[in-house]
Amino acid sequence: MTFRILAMGGDGIGTEVLDQGIRLIDSLSTTYGVSIDITEDFLGGAAYDRFGTFCRDETVVRAKQSDAILVGAVGGPKWDGITMEGGPEMQDGLMRLRKELDCFAGLRPAKAFPVLEDRTPYRPGLASRADIMVLREMCGGAFFGVPRGVETDRDGKRVGFDNSLYTESEIVRIARVGFELARRRSGRLCSVDKANVMQTYVLWREVIREMATEYPDIELTVLYADNAAYQLARNPMAFDVIVGDNLFGDIFSDQAAVVCGSLGMLPSACLQHLPAENETARGIYEPVHGTAPDIAGLDQANPIGMLLTVAMMAEYSMGRSDLKQVIETAVERSLAEGIRTPDLGGSATSQEVTDAVIRHIRA
Ligand code: NAD
Repeated sequence: MTFRILAMGGDGIGTEVLDQGIRLIDSLSTTYGVSIDITEDFLGGAAYDRFGTFCRDETVVRAKQSDAILVGAVGGPKWDGITMEGGPEMQDGLMRLRKELDCFAGLRPAKAFPVLEDRTPYRPGLASRADIMVLREMCGGAFFGVPRGVETDRDGKRVGFDNSLYTESEIVRIARVGFELARRRSGRLCSVDKANVMQTYVLWREVIREMATEYPDIELTVLYADNAAYQLARNPMAFDVIVGDNLFGDIFSDQAAVVCGSLGMLPSACLQHLPAENETARGIYEPVHGTAPDIAGLDQANPIGMLLTVAMMAEYSMGRSDLKQVIETAVERSLAEGIRTPDLGGSATSQEVTDAVIRHIRA
């Protein structure tokens, strides 16, 4: 069987890291005899410049016909002020894809690499064994809620507003993924919210607490997001799975990246469901980082977030946990050799880092 990937670099360093991801996939294909077909398309600003929309209908159709979608990153100052007709998902190519494919479960693992301990702001031993999984709800909340806008009030002053909204069933399905993930890991789940000040989170907390009765083996903690941010900064090793809505999941996954030494190290998977063992799920795979306009075009982007993203795709959409392990080991070995991009204190290019990882895979 041929595994079909729709690949889209997007903008800025997105295209640069996607190139490295494709090189890795090609090497897996050759070394392990996996049949993979990659179709490329445009997303985000790159799509807007060519077609006047951030994600074409054709792209959505292609995505639905693929086994997995691999994305670099989208967006940048050039396209920030553009407003498209339609809802929030029409303003961002990735958001449209997530919504159309209903890829609601965003898995964002942040596992510390002991060889990079000196690249973190932590004292030795404080974060060296951190292994966090941020689970972000990807299809709802304030990012998608309507009404929203910037209007002018009676005094001629501007008013900006958004609508943070979750249905019970949206909370149930993401919470279930959280409990199941915790069950596969160390059995601890922390839910973050602002139930002290916002009604959406009152419901969020209530539903998650109700569901905890179905998972007596899981230790559930509920924290206000501000306290959670403080606790996570102080003691990252105290956390396992952190579940949050679209907004907090976005923020906490970047914060968790600190234990890895760079935002460029973090992979992610947005899944339609969490597959059981021997099952696969369709997913949108993308590194957690954005388009990094400050380093775009310099061949300095750390490709490891993308390479580990390919590893997640191998695990969840190909059902090849063995390949995931191969990639992770190759990444660890190349880091141990000191082959690193500038964000990790090195001087290697994206290409050179990927070369090293591929060399270890072949070995
Ligand atoms: P960013 O993640 O692009 O960059 C934040 C910082 O991290 C920058 O200093 C950048 O140089 C660095 N960085 C990020 N990835 C790196 C990598 N692989 N290697 C080395 N350094 C890396 O966040 P931002 O600057 O807030 O956003 C820039 C643009 O990206 C915005 O338009 C934003 O909307 C977009 N964005 C897109 C996504 C996505 O497509 N999933 C996610 C976040 C931000």
